[in-house]
Amino acid sequence: MRELLPEEQERYARQIGPGVLSSEGQVRLKRAAALVARTGGMGGPAAMVLVMAGVGRVIIAHGGRLISPDLNRQTLGSEEGVGLPRADAFAQRLRSLNRFVTVETIDHEPDDAEAEALARRVDVILSCAPSFAERLRLNRAALAAGVPLIDAAQWGMCGSLVVVRPRQTACLRCLYPQQPEFEELFPVVGGISSAVGSLAGLEAIKILSRTGQPMYGQLWSIDGYHGRTSIVNLRRDPRCPCCGDASPAGDAPS
Ligand SMILES: [Zn+2]
Repeated sequence: MRELLPEEQERYARQIGPGVLSSEGQVRLKRAAALVARTGGMGGPAAMVLVMAGVGRVIIAHGGRLISPDLNRQTLGSEEGVGLPRADAFAQRLRSLNRFVTVETIDHEPDDAEAEALARRVDVILSCAPSFAERLRLNRAALAAGVPLIDAAQWGMCGSLVVVRPRQTACLRCLYPQQPEFEELFPVVGGISSAVGSLAGLEAIKILSRTGQPMYGQLWSIDGYHGRTSIVNLRRDPRCPCCGDASPAGDAPS
């Protein structure tokens, strides 16, 4: 197992100890790879906490060029970056945060085959995508590769997290048997985006370092508008076409 450099031990000193990571957990982070699909309002903060925490390889996927309306929530963006390709600008910002990690970029939305190939290269997937089509694609890819999926979602001042453990807990398709309507330009306030994205990053850090209790199989909803939160235990649907008993990924433990 690759040990930490003295400079890395200094960098991560505040997150190693009782109640946080063990030294072994920090080394596990260093050896780990994570895919963050979309690094806008939610995925940007998620990628930031992974990079700052020392996840060895962070692959970010985000297409298009930064536009002014992105800047109410996309923390990796900047006034100077408007008009530039998002993936490159965001990666540059991430690399400036931690010289000990590698940041890779995908400058488009991966299709089914590429998503599955990416899933097989990483230890966890963070889905921070806006559309159900992309979220469900990442869900399928995670199930096919057998890697945990953390799905972050937002609308207005509300957000939610679902953490999927393949073959053991409900997947995103169990939760959404029918693909809901997608509103292209839905309203969103940056505070909820960064909150949900940071919590998604924390779940990934817990999973990768084997720290604490990941929220597997739970739907955590944060209603920032009314100031309420809730946690619901999800049930895996044995008839789910993605993770059910008859699916390729469905050999659930008895
Ligand atoms: Zn399922």
